[in-house]
Amino acid sequence: AKVAGKNCYRFYSRAMDQAVERRVQIEHDLRGAWERGEISLCYQPVYALADGRLVGAEALLRWAHPTLGNIPPSVFIDIAEQSGIIDRLGRHALQRACEDASRWQRGDGSEPPFVSVNISARQLRSGDLPEAVAEVLSASGLPPQRLHLELTETAVLGDEAQASALLARIRSIGPKVWLDDFGTGFSGLSHLRRVPVDGVKIDRSFIADMLRDPDDLALTTAIVAMAHSLGITVIAEGVEHEGQYAMLRERGCDLAQGYWLGRPMHGHELTRRLST
Ligand code: C2E
Ligand code: CA
Ligand code: CA
Ligand code: CA
Repeated sequence: AKVAGKNCYRFYSRAMDQAVERRVQIEHDLRGAWERGEISLCYQPVYALADGRLVGAEALLRWAHPTLGNIPPSVFIDIAEQSGIIDRLGRHALQRACEDASRWQRGDGSEPPFVSVNISARQLRSGDLPEAVAEVLSASGLPPQRLHLELTETAVLGDEAQASALLARIRSIGPKVWLDDFGTGFSGLSHLRRVPVDGVKIDRSFIADMLRDPDDLALTTAIVAMAHSLGITVIAEGVEHEGQYAMLRERGCDLAQGYWLGRPMHGHELTRRLST
């Protein structure tokens, strides 16, 4: 048992070394990856449940690493946050998303969709986010109301007073602010009364189980009712089946996105969807 324990320890330690090494490599390679053209944005369409119209798109980062292949944002965003790389990367993503969206047009000439950009906790804490947003908007020419920013509930939670002041400044410039992954934090619904946001995005873990788990359905229904009573829009993410779509529509949820409606896609493909 002693030997096995020792071997086990050695194996474990080597696996840990490898994980640390990989992290160090990713952090190293991440610096300059945007400039080398390895990182791009894809767009996932957002639909209005009332009439099925495509009303927006969420910008999502994609990294095609030259030797490691595709590295998902769930791996590199975390490293980018902790190393501070997100400051530049996030700024590039915001800029590119606004440039892309400023060129979107509809076949019928009506108002083009909004673009929704994820903002990390660190970007919010940096304090100069309102200035960065104003600069990027004027450089791209995107009408401010067509930019939406997604902040996680936990990012806003840290210092509620400071976050509220920042969000108010951003909204005064024109962009809408969404609380992402809503329902997973500890803030609960009462939080919504104190933090100035335009919408909440119900976390996909609740949508996934909604038709099987009565608690998840009750929570989703409660979020819709509470948000609407405060004049806040509700979006559901991770809609993978028609049944979920129909249920969300029945419960009065405003917007939805998910694989059933459209996977994250190349900008060109989104443009094609808009023209038809
Ligand atoms: P998120 O903001 O919650 O983004 C939604 C994630 O759910 C995306 O994963 C999307 O591809 C995935 N998704 C969409 N529809 C479905 C569905 O029907 N089923 C399932 N199972 N998943 C679905 P992705 O692109 O891997 O992004 C993961 C996370 O990385 C994002 O979570 C976001 O937190 C972060 N992220 C992505 N791009 C950026 C960025 O530009 N800036 C920052 N700060 N974070 C980003
Ligand atoms: Ca998001
Ligand atoms: Ca989310
Ligand atoms: Ca559940």
